[in-house]
Amino acid sequence: MTYLADLFIDGEWRPGGGERFDVIDPADQTVIARFAAATEDDCMAAVDAAANAQTRWAATAPRERSELLRSAYEVLTEEVEQFAEIIVRENGKSWSDAVGEANYAKEFFRWFAEEAVRIPGDYRLSPAGDKRIVVDRQPIGVSLLITPWNFPAAMATRKLAPALAAGCTTILKPARETPLTAAYIVEVLRRVGVPSGVVNLVTPVPTGPLVAKMINRPEVRKLSFTGSTEVGRDLLHACADSVVSASMELGGNAPLIVLPGADMDVTIEGAMLAKMRNGGAACTAANRVYVHSSRHDEFVERMTAELAALSVGPGLDRSRQVGALVSIAERDKVAELVDTAVSEGATLVHGGTSSEKGAFYDATLLTGVRHGSRITSTEIFGPVVTVVAYDDVDEAVRMANDTIYGLMAYVFGEEREAVAVARRLEAGMVAVNRGVVSDPAAPFGGVKQSGLGREGGSEGILEFLEEKYIALTEPRIG
Ligand code: ADP
Repeated sequence: MTYLADLFIDGEWRPGGGERFDVIDPADQTVIARFAAATEDDCMAAVDAAANAQTRWAATAPRERSELLRSAYEVLTEEVEQFAEIIVRENGKSWSDAVGEANYAKEFFRWFAEEAVRIPGDYRLSPAGDKRIVVDRQPIGVSLLITPWNFPAAMATRKLAPALAAGCTTILKPARETPLTAAYIVEVLRRVGVPSGVVNLVTPVPTGPLVAKMINRPEVRKLSFTGSTEVGRDLLHACADSVVSASMELGGNAPLIVLPGADMDVTIEGAMLAKMRNGGAACTAANRVYVHSSRHDEFVERMTAELAALSVGPGLDRSRQVGALVSIAERDKVAELVDTAVSEGATLVHGGTSSEKGAFYDATLLTGVRHGSRITSTEIFGPVVTVVAYDDVDEAVRMANDTIYGLMAYVFGEEREAVAVARRLEAGMVAVNRGVVSDPAAPFGGVKQSGLGREGGSEGILEFLEEKYIALTEPRIG
């Protein structure tokens, strides 16, 4: 397969002024493309193009914007295999994870095609009866969208779709590890007829300084970022300088609590999804499992059997359930976290090694992990289950909340008790007796240092809209 590997600025694919960088297949470490690097001039050209297209795009009828998004959804549906293959090649994930992501990603175009024509406003009489208060919602303006490598398709569409639906023009900056998926999505938007300048794609080198320069252009009014809390903090500082609105989906450290009354079949199925989907490389992945001591041995035994049945290997081999991590560096980071946990007294029950060449790490389970140790306070981003036993539900809730993060939490138990625990957890999202929450129709986002704002649902489009209050004089009768 040949890949689009250029920048997309003002409706044209361009080679960019910088020296191209390698995109590597994590499974075999081969170079699959050399992607264009954007210089400062390229980044500024992208901002110019988006700024020039903004007024016209905002004035485009919502139905027209909606139909373009719907067409993109249709194309991605027809080309789902090609879409998934690009994801696998540059990200390394398993085939089923890639198809799952491709299907999830395209749904954002369908969902926001439906939201584009339902942007709400408000109209009310002032308390004094002297005026009508009209509240209009207008597109916020040029939006910079920065995405990570773990879901290169879904994180791009989760931002592009609401921005475009709202009437904002965009500059997409994908992660350097995974620009090919982004380029493919942008090409689909071009093919269906999204006008020049409305969607631009840049991969700036060096990233930080050039992103800051784009944020500081007065035309840029929105930053929507998904990535690490560390980079998110820096970007919030950059946004402060020109008071840019920021939506942030940052790191997670999701607890998964197994209550004494949990149905173990439901728990194992949910825990496998919560932990192993995307090979654990998800900000929503269950990072720490707190199991009531009365259910501990049963949970460990059954989880271990499930993990042992997984086959780790290249994502293009459709028989494998766990693919590669995105890079050798990521694999080594996971290995180091596991080794440190073991040296601190955790027991390695399963895995702990890498059987394939490339960026692979075996499905792994650790018990006797100490709450507060490095592995329970770091986003693992790999296929590693860490089990902490507890005796008292209040203690489990305390440990679950004992983190700077607050994105996701999972609770398994008798439903009334599980919902009561869910209410006490400091997280933007809680899954009760299930392993996956993501849905284009639901508001995705975190509390504490996991983020600001929500993506998806009816909330997602609001991040790209601003209220405008127009005052009208109310005629006095009599
Ligand atoms: P991850 O753990 O997913 O690699 P990062 O926060 O490092 O998370 O990366 C997420 C996105 O942020 C990527 O597109 C990456 O290129 C980008 N990025 C990394 N550093 C910076 C920075 N200093 N300024 C702006 N964007 C950055």
